Amino acid sequence: MIYFDSTATTKPLKEVLDTYNKINEEYWYNPSGMYKGSVVVNSLIEKASLQIENILGLSNKTIYYTSGATEANNMAIMGICMPYINKGKHIITTYIEHPSVYNVFKNLENLGFNVTYLKCENGIVNLDELKNALTKDTILVSIMWVNNIIGSINPIKEIIEIVKKHSHAKLHVDAVQGITKIKEDFSYNDIDLVSITFHKIEGLKGIGALIANKSIQLSPILKGGHQQKEIRPGTLDASLIVSSAKALRLAMENRDNHYNYVKKLYDYLTQKLEKLNHIKINKTNESYSPYVLSISIDNLKGETAMHYLEESEIYVGIGSACNEKIETIERAIYAITKDNSRAINMIRISLSHHNTPEEIDKLVEKLESIRNL
Ligand code: PMP
Repeated sequence: MIYFDSTATTKPLKEVLDTYNKINEEYWYNPSGMYKGSVVVNSLIEKASLQIENILGLSNKTIYYTSGATEANNMAIMGICMPYINKGKHIITTYIEHPSVYNVFKNLENLGFNVTYLKCENGIVNLDELKNALTKDTILVSIMWVNNIIGSINPIKEIIEIVKKHSHAKLHVDAVQGITKIKEDFSYNDIDLVSITFHKIEGLKGIGALIANKSIQLSPILKGGHQQKEIRPGTLDASLIVSSAKALRLAMENRDNHYNYVKKLYDYLTQKLEKLNHIKINKTNESYSPYVLSISIDNLKGETAMHYLEESEIYVGIGSACNEKIETIERAIYAITKDNSRAINMIRISLSHHNTPEEIDKLVEKLESIRNL
């Protein structure tokens, strides 16, 4: 099997699984308990949080563990906005966010919030458009770092400066596709709320985190016990948390090596694809991640192409572009191409350091033959 869908998820590292199993075998007590076993489990969680803080250079932050980035995104956005229902407040996001942000904003729009969706016609936020959208009523700006469909990288450093200079709004960044893959030119400490998830970085599914400024008041979505300052109640899973800290450390240690390797693969792949005239690369001239490549095949639905490649044990992604309904066509592709068919005919090839040039040769060979379908 040749796997080109690391944007969707990654295989957990053996070291991560070993940690997970060890903790489940030896330290399975409830971390909220008062007896010795629980105290030890709680100290493991605290140690893992400290490790994550050190790796990301965090200070004055609270790490709320969640079930993944979908929950972290919901928690951040709803957590800021809920107290302002029916108060005429304004919130900003982009047209190309992941559904776990975009659909939360759509919901808030239905609840009466004024929403600006930044267009991202070049694949990234236009900074003037952002600046002009900010008002005295803007309470939240939510902008992703790296887009999960087209790989475009938003200028987070400039976004931080603009939001700080021209508003009192809180800034939330969905960092899922950037963290441990792209070198940050900003500090996490300058962002109020950051969402991450571990299954994209060779950790386990079912765990993510919202990294929040200690000073931020979040309104909790879940009501429950006293865990995590009552902002995200529920029994914490030390095995997931400790193994996530390990996944983060290993991915961060290898970030630059992996990036350089994947960038070479990406260049090799795109050079080959540019020679195929039935294939278009969905990309602008802006900065992009070499981990995510979106292409459209003339006159062939993404879903058909995906299954054709699957016959040869090559796995690629299609986002949600298999559905012809305009609402569900990949917004990111549409934003940069204004072409419905490009969105419907899209497949996403995501590279990782596990891929090889030989695998790319096989993929390109199949993509060449696909024109005869
Ligand atoms: N944001 C982005 C940019 C993503 O790519 C994903 C995963 N597809 C998510 C959020 C949601 O993450 P999770 O699967 O952990 O809920």
